[in-house]
Amino acid sequence: MSNEESQDMKEMILSKYERLTIDHQFNFKCHDKLGCFTHCCADVNIALTPYDVLRLRKRIGMGSEEFIEKHVLLPKMTPGQKLPLVFLRMDAHTKRCLFVGDKGCKVYEDRPWACRMYPVGHASGRTNANPDGEDFYFILRDRRCDGLGEKNLMTIREWMENQGTADYDAANNEYKEFSLHPFLTKGYALEPQHRQMFFMACYNLDRFREFIFESTFLKKFDIESETIEAIRKDDEALLLFAFRWLRFALFHERTVKIIPEYEEAKRKVLRVS
Ligand code: SF4
Ligand code: SF4
Repeated sequence: MSNEESQDMKEMILSKYERLTIDHQFNFKCHDKLGCFTHCCADVNIALTPYDVLRLRKRIGMGSEEFIEKHVLLPKMTPGQKLPLVFLRMDAHTKRCLFVGDKGCKVYEDRPWACRMYPVGHASGRTNANPDGEDFYFILRDRRCDGLGEKNLMTIREWMENQGTADYDAANNEYKEFSLHPFLTKGYALEPQHRQMFFMACYNLDRFREFIFESTFLKKFDIESETIEAIRKDDEALLLFAFRWLRFALFHERTVKIIPEYEEAKRKVLRVS
C-alpha cells in the first residue's frame, strides 16, 4: 500500500465508518467450518508495527535483518510521506500469507495486531484540522467474511481481551505517537538519514543493538546502567529504549542525557569551525 493509498484509507475511515466506543456490541465468530476460513490471510495489506515484528521474529527465531528480507514489504517512500510504512510480505505467487496453513495461522499466539483485531479497526480522530480528535473503533464489513453473519454477541472490549491485544496496545501506543507527533503534523519533514534511523531503531533491533554497543554511543550518552543491562539481551526493553532514543534523535526532546564532556567537546568543535 502506498502512502497515498494509506492516506486515502484514513480519510475514508474518518468520513465513512460509524465511530464506535469500546463498549459497542457486535456479532462475530471465526472458525474452521466456515467456507471463508483462511481466505482473509491472502492478498491483504497487513501493516506491521515494531512490536508485531518483535513478536513474529521471536516466534520463528529469526534475526531482524533476515526477517526484514523475508517477511517485510517496505514500499518506496512517496513525496510528502513522513515515516516509512511496513507491511507483512505475502507469497509472490499464491499471494497467501507466508504464515498461513491448512489449519489456520501457524503463528497464532504471535500474530500481528491487525490480524488479532479483525474485524475491528481502531483509528485516531486526530487530523491537522482537528488535533484533539478522539480515537474510535469501527467494524470492517467485508462481504467475503462469513464470520460477521455468525451469532456471537460481544463488546469490542471483550473481543480485544479475548484476542490478547493488551501487550500489543501498550507498545503500539508509544509507536503511534511518532506519526502523530507535532513535529510531523505541523509539516516538518525528517531528513532521509533520520527516516533510516527510525526504521532501524523500530524494526531492525539487531542492528540498533550493534549501533548502541559497537559504536561510540555509550561514550556520548549517559544511559542508566540498569537500562544498559536490560537492552543488552532483552528485545522488548530495547524497543522501549528505541522509542525513547528516537524522541531525542528526531524531535530533540530531552529523553536521553548527553555526557557533559562530550557536549563540551562538541561545542569546542563548533566554535573552531
Ligand atoms: S470468518 Fe472472516 S476472519 Fe474468519 S476466516 Fe472467514 S474471512 Fe477470515
Ligand atoms: S499472520 Fe496469521 S492471521 Fe495474519 S494473515 Fe498471516 S496467517 Fe493470517
